[in-house]
Amino acid sequence: MNLFELVQTAPPDPILGLSEAFKNDPNPDKINLTVGVYQDESGKSPLLESVRRAEEILARGAGSKGYLPINGHPDYLGHCQALVFGEGNEMILTKRLASVHTPGGTGGLRLAGDFIRRSLGQRTIWVSNPTWANHQGIFTAAGLDIKTYPYYNPETHGLNLEGMITVLETIPENDIVLLHACCHNPTGVDPTEEDWETIAKVCKERKLLPLLDFAYQGFSKGWIDDAVAIRAFSEYGLEFIVCSSFSKNFGLYQDRVGAMHVVAKNADEAARILSQLKVIVRTNYSNPPAHGSAIVSTILNDTELRQLWEEELKTMRSRINTVRSEFVDGLEKAGVPGDFSFIREQKGMFSFSGLSEESVQKLRQDHAIYIVKSGRINVAGINDKNRDTLCRAIAQC
Ligand code: PLP
Repeated sequence: MNLFELVQTAPPDPILGLSEAFKNDPNPDKINLTVGVYQDESGKSPLLESVRRAEEILARGAGSKGYLPINGHPDYLGHCQALVFGEGNEMILTKRLASVHTPGGTGGLRLAGDFIRRSLGQRTIWVSNPTWANHQGIFTAAGLDIKTYPYYNPETHGLNLEGMITVLETIPENDIVLLHACCHNPTGVDPTEEDWETIAKVCKERKLLPLLDFAYQGFSKGWIDDAVAIRAFSEYGLEFIVCSSFSKNFGLYQDRVGAMHVVAKNADEAARILSQLKVIVRTNYSNPPAHGSAIVSTILNDTELRQLWEEELKTMRSRINTVRSEFVDGLEKAGVPGDFSFIREQKGMFSFSGLSEESVQKLRQDHAIYIVKSGRINVAGINDKNRDTLCRAIAQC
């Protein structure tokens, strides 16, 4: 028998699979609120003007397609560190960060998973219930066991801090705790500054290793404000890992740009950690793709482009907040029973709408409205043209 005949069809990705179904749906009024990609008022995922201009500059330059260093270009890594930890931060100056340019946030999370399993010899990672569906897949593939801590309170539509802390306090020493640094996916519910201090304190006391997934920096309150969790963990003197992504905040989804940083105790420890990370990268994808990181560096090295990018990021953030508000008004106008004001308070692109799996099914079958089965909505997919249709359909379901 041919070996390939034995291969079974794998189930489609729970989120990207729905996008495929959406693409194939012939209904002209179909609405896609599934995948986590920012969309503007016209329903497009825009190419930022700052990115377009940076690409023009890069095209004019006499480029080389030589390999990048295994952990990425030093200029790019310097920018990544400054954006996440703050310009001139003590951790940067004392060289106690081991930083790697990773292919997007996903690449960073997988590198972190491999590092945890292969270099630290740890086995267990705790993730929030619920969390981004791909966390399960990434860490399972890296050989980790996944456990969950409570996070969301469906009654208040807010954070279940008490439940979360109660479980964190029971976690064995050296286990890994994955936290969403801002714009929690899928709930849109974030801890406050005070809550982050409480979480950091427990991680310190219990000797847990926090892994911060920072995929939406700049989508909640602002570039610097959104690093509140990073500051809390730094102030408590913790060692931790950060995986950051530029897919959303630079709109560079397809260029696969991100970074993974390990915050070590001192420069010597960071250098040893970096040597291990390089081995993992070298035996996986060898070295990172250059184009996206060159765009980010070009923008951040140029005062005018940087200002333009910050304005464009602000426009995306403001639109999301306006859409949230208009969506809540629309639901009320359409006569959907219940108080949906919590949608205004949630942060980032996602909203845990509270729609049941049955309603989600009906919306898809009867109205060609695509929502992931947990009821998570990408609010950026709502615009002036589809909002009334959406709200009326929700009222019917
Ligand atoms: N982490 C979370 C919570 C996400 O929602 C996403 C993307 O949707 C990622 C990581 C990965 O982003 P990237 O596209 O940069 O791999």
